[in-house]
Amino acid sequence: MKKYISLTIILILIFFLSGCSFIKKHKELSDLEAIKERGYLIVGTKTDSPPFGYYKDGKLTGIDIEIAQNIANYIFQNESSANVKFVNVNAQNRIEKLNSKDVDILVATMSINEKRKLVMSFSVPYFVANQKIMVRKTSKITHLQYFNKNGRLAVVMGTTGEKISHLVAPNAHFVGTKSYNEAFNLLLNRQVDAILGDDCILRGYLTDEFRIINKSYSREYYAVAIRKADDSKDLLNLINSALAVMLDERRLNLIKARYFI
Ligand code: GLU
Repeated sequence: MKKYISLTIILILIFFLSGCSFIKKHKELSDLEAIKERGYLIVGTKTDSPPFGYYKDGKLTGIDIEIAQNIANYIFQNESSANVKFVNVNAQNRIEKLNSKDVDILVATMSINEKRKLVMSFSVPYFVANQKIMVRKTSKITHLQYFNKNGRLAVVMGTTGEKISHLVAPNAHFVGTKSYNEAFNLLLNRQVDAILGDDCILRGYLTDEFRIINKSYSREYYAVAIRKADDSKDLLNLINSALAVMLDERRLNLIKARYFI
């Protein structure tokens, strides 16, 4: 009888200790270790922001997509499309998707700003844009302040454009849209008179019927966004190294050049 009791106690102890080490292992994995264990990087990217993230001939493509693929290859030290999985995010849900761990990182035309730095970390910048307005070609509008008294201005909600428009033209009649596609269609159908957005994205929508006014309302430094946590630091360092290597090998410039011809 005594023998059975001792055996039961030993079994309970083994079960308990192995359970503890399992929990400990999973609790202590940093973001980078968890990605390596999973075998691929999960990246939040946009699909409405040419030339950064968009569909061409049914294929997700763009500068952000290529940068994400390069980062994933750097993490796994080999070149394979299997190193990365893309999840579609938009300007309204991208921060939530990152912080709820739906994605490991965001490569999503995301500008660094002080408010965002409170809830997320940023890599070194990989691109600089300017906020400008796009109008119809025949329009007489020359600046954003015009909208304080006249017209309707489209901004994509959750973007830095939304913030800038409230600062520069606080009395404007704003039309908040969910995407650039929606804003562009409103301009096309004369339901708004301009779109405020990053010039490089506006250029992705530029046709003969529109023009972009060459006045900048803010500089936008695009960076990779990572969760703001101690266990995300090794991932942040690795992403900065990957970007430094891409810059050093001129790969970053080559990617940009391909999309800005
Ligand atoms: N770069 C700006 C931002 O981070 C606007 C472009 C975007 O929608 O991502 O809000």
